[in-house]
Amino acid sequence: MTSAKASTAPVDSPYYFMQKAVDLVGTSPHPQNKIAATLFGGKPNDLWSVTRTNHWPAMIDVKIGRTQDIGNSSGTLHAETACILTVPEATEGASLCITDPCCPNCAKNIAEAGIKKIYIDHKGFKKDFFKRRGDHFDSMSMQICAKAGVSVYELNRKEQTITPIIEVPLSFTPPDDSPIVIEPIESAAEAVLRIGVQKSSQIHHRRKFAMAFAQDSQGQKFMITVRAHAVIGFTMNNLNEALEIMTPQDKYSFIQEPVNRLLMFLARKGWRLMDGYLYASQIPTAREQVNLVGAGIKRITVGDFQKSRDPYGFQAMETLKRAGILIYD
Ligand SMILES: [Zn+2]
Repeated sequence: MTSAKASTAPVDSPYYFMQKAVDLVGTSPHPQNKIAATLFGGKPNDLWSVTRTNHWPAMIDVKIGRTQDIGNSSGTLHAETACILTVPEATEGASLCITDPCCPNCAKNIAEAGIKKIYIDHKGFKKDFFKRRGDHFDSMSMQICAKAGVSVYELNRKEQTITPIIEVPLSFTPPDDSPIVIEPIESAAEAVLRIGVQKSSQIHHRRKFAMAFAQDSQGQKFMITVRAHAVIGFTMNNLNEALEIMTPQDKYSFIQEPVNRLLMFLARKGWRLMDGYLYASQIPTAREQVNLVGAGIKRITVGDFQKSRDPYGFQAMETLKRAGILIYD
């Protein structure tokens, strides 16, 4: 996407990457809330970046349309999450420029994807949209960033200033209560996944989890097991904190569902999920299912079709199944 007013900022500065997002934001198909983000990283002389707006993934756009919700989730991908789900590079240590303050769901994804810096355009704080949503930004998004070790800055393009909202030393390592299990495998065979699922069902007795095969850039294959857990940085060891974590605020919570956690972990590593080898112990949430579509996944194996976090998971499954977008085995 080219722009009439090219940025004069040096190509390795956040101003430059913010301008890329600003240049693209008008192309967002969303009628009211147009948002764009640029994710960038890499070494100083070898930088990569990707810019996305909030949008409907093509499959949803064509087969379901823009007016129908999928369960209790809109069919759109937020710009920040779209960047994470579609970038081929490892997002660990990357930075993100956003035209608007991020919602708690995107904050969770950013944290799990190992992104270390967020720059928010100062104009985003002045919009009505933010004024309606500001509470969740302060009470949830910023808490998530602080605990995960993500620094957040307000960026003013005109004044060329960057003001910290939260600043975390780069050396900060968040606690990780529920590490993701990674096992190298020789080949992607269904039997291997089946055995893995059996083993994990015993270990994670009654707890929801997801498993998948993934491949790194060298072609090495891995079996990955992920459990539902509070977003990285939150520990469940402290009773007061655990209670707060377990209590949803409106439609948001501090819990990261297993399929979503898996997708963000793969982004962090720059690994590719091998489609056809994804297992979820129960029906994923509506938002997870939309994110799967956004990540280009076409098939999922579900352990227990009687279980989902809420009724919306079932509704989302029916909608996506009927439209022929996701196959559920
Ligand atoms: Zn969001």
